[in-house]
Formats: sequence, structure tokens, C-alpha cells
Amino acid sequence: MSILDAMARADEIKPISPFGLTLEAYQSLCKAQEVGRGRAQTAYEAIYRDGATESAPAKIVVPAIVTRHEEVVKEGVTIKFVQRLPNPEHRLKDRGIDFDDIESVIIPMIGRSGRKTHTLCVSSQVGCAMGCDFCETAQMGLIRSLRAEEIVAQWWAARFIEGIQIDNIVFMGMGEPMDNLDEVLKAIDCLTDRNGPCIPMSGITISTVGRVDGLERIKEQVQKPGWKRLGLALSLNASNDRVRSELMPVNKKWNMQRLQDVLLELREVRGGRKIMIEYVLIPGVNCDDEHADELAEWMKPFLKDPTRDKGKGHGGLLNVIPYNPRRDSPWEAPSDEVVDRFVNRLVGHGVFVNCRRTKGRDTMAACGQLGTAEIRKRKYVQMKTSASEDQSTAHG
Ligand code: SAH
Repeated sequence: MSILDAMARADEIKPISPFGLTLEAYQSLCKAQEVGRGRAQTAYEAIYRDGATESAPAKIVVPAIVTRHEEVVKEGVTIKFVQRLPNPEHRLKDRGIDFDDIESVIIPMIGRSGRKTHTLCVSSQVGCAMGCDFCETAQMGLIRSLRAEEIVAQWWAARFIEGIQIDNIVFMGMGEPMDNLDEVLKAIDCLTDRNGPCIPMSGITISTVGRVDGLERIKEQVQKPGWKRLGLALSLNASNDRVRSELMPVNKKWNMQRLQDVLLELREVRGGRKIMIEYVLIPGVNCDDEHADELAEWMKPFLKDPTRDKGKGHGGLLNVIPYNPRRDSPWEAPSDEVVDRFVNRLVGHGVFVNCRRTKGRDTMAACGQLGTAEIRKRKYVQMKTSASEDQSTAHG
């Protein structure tokens, strides 16, 4: 074939994005267009290793970064970036909206060995349907779920537009991963592909509001080859059902007892691997001494089991996150004294506590603060009516 023939041939090939696909899946799709396995592999690797989006047959369009914010922290620089995804079928297209904005955050960390690493916090949905009272994203309701390729495109943007090597990925951005589990699992298959992004399974964590239906599916998933080391986090955020149901509507469907049961089952199938329990400390709501005591009681079954846990650092993992006020928040951030007292009390109960120092709060990039004012204008799902919500309409 002459070069001109080859170029003409390349033009006929419909671009197939390898985003969200394993090499194998990409090769089968390419095959349908008569692109050989070898050529498909070269294109796949070029995109994921070198960031080359031009190489046929894979010339693809990556959603551009439309805004970004940097904040200098002790460990380096936190970067929040927003990608714009075209959405001609947007439900609000009559109002001139034909795109979705999604947010991701790159967080620098210093590991135990002193090595600097970067964690990428990805979004799994535009907005969220879970309605947690303290979370910024919840205030906009669910706009739509992301496809696997759109989840992987966040990694690609972090790696090749921002130029940062990503070590870990956490599904703690916008959205509830268990509400979009098929696409999340597909994205993870791609992110861990050795010919692709090559993130180790142990470097990926799915964080959930506590959807037991999703956790049941994870129980099956982690028994599949390659999935055993997937990280899991549960956002507990309260020490009893009364407070939890007030903060998190999902608790009315699956309460704390149900969560405890499914977590114990998961521990069984995951060979004792710990699940991170996350707890957002909200002053006046969930951080009194009694709450710490109740929480320790709830965590008891997850505390050190001498028959299983060898070595240190296995005292049941609790990640305490000082509340980052969402827009128009009725609550303030907790003082250091409140945080210290709560943490110390739990440590006294034998819980292994990690306090996630706040990064990105100034740029509204911290936990639970994703969802821009722009995006909020498009709020169409009324989640909750409260005094604070009424004020928010004046802003958003
Ligand atoms: N839906 C998933 C992932 C997104 S939220 C989940 O609920 O786990 C990621 C974490 O941020 C959760 O632990 C959540 O409890 C926490 N979070 C939400 N809003 C917050 C806020 N305003 N301040 C601090 N943490 C918050």
C-alpha cells in the first residue's frame, strides 16, 4: 500500500476512543474496522504512555480543562480542574445548556517512607442523588452519571494536561460510585490495565455513602482475579441512626446495623483487608464525647483481631475529616480543640484514627465542596428545603 493509500485508509477509520477500555476490548473494537491487534496496541500504548491522541486509528478528542485552581499546601500544590464534556442531549438544552462540567482534584501526599505521591480524586457523576445535607455536590441533585471513558479522561487530563504522575485514585469527587457501578468498574478495569494507565488495584479506592446493594456487588467483584486489593471506604459520618438519617437520607434505607453486617461479610471475602471508615466532624451535630463513644462501640467488631491481625496499624481504620463548610452552610468548620478531643477519645477506645488535614478548602476543592456556582445554577432536583437552602438561591 502506498503512503497515500494508507492515509486515505486512515481517514476512513472511525476514531475509537480507548478511554474506558482495556487493551483487549479496544483491540476487538478495532478489529471490526479491520485494524490489526498490533496496530491497536501501539495506539493504545501511545495514548496512555505518551499522551499521544493523534495517532491513527485512535485520534480522539479529550475534554478540555476549562478552569483550574491551585492551592499551595505543605506537601506541594493541590490542583482542582474542571473538564467540560459536550452533552447535546442535555436535559436543559432548551435553556441553552449543552455541556456538563466535571471536577477532579490532584492532591499531593507524603507517604510514610517520605516519598511524595499524588492522589487523584475523581468524579463518577455530574452532581449526586444521595442528598447528604452537609455536601456541596448534593445540593445540585443528580444531573447524570459519567461513562467509564469520562472517568478515565479525568486521569488522562491529570497525567498529560497537568503533567502529574498519579499514584492513587479515589472515587471521592462528585457523585456516588455505587449509583453508577457498572461504569465505575469498567473504568477501573481500564485504569489498572498494564498496557494502559497501569495504576495498581491497591491504589484505587471506591468511597460510598453506604449503598448496601452496591457493597453486595463489590463482594462478588473482589473475588474476581485482579480485584482482591481494591480499596473501599465507607462514609459513616454519624454514630447513631438518628443523626445519620438526618444527615444522610440513604440511612433510612440501609441503617448502621445493616452496614456493619455487610462490612463484616466483606472483611471475610477480602481476607481481613480493612475498610476505611470516614467521619466528617460537624460541630454541634456529631462530635460530642457521647458520639465518640457510640462510634467506638459501632467500630468494635472492626478493631484489632489478634487471631488475624499481625503487625501494627490494624486497629480499625477511622478517617476523621473536619467539616468543610459548603456554600451557605448552617454549620462552621470544627475548631482544632473539638477535632483533637474527638480523635483522642477514639484513640483511647483503641481505634486507629487518621485525621485528614484539610487541603483545598480555600478553592472549594476540599472534600464535599465540589460543585461550582456555575454548575449549581443548573440545579433542577430539589433535594431538601431548609433555611440555608433558601438563602442559597440568592447566590446560585
Ligand atoms: N459519595 C461518595 C463519595 C463522595 S464524598 C461518599 O459519600 O463516600 C467523599 C467524602 O467527602 C465522603 O466521605 C463525604 O462524607 C465527605 N464530605 C462530603 N461533604 C463534606 C464536607 N462538606 N466536608 C468534609 N467532608 C465532606
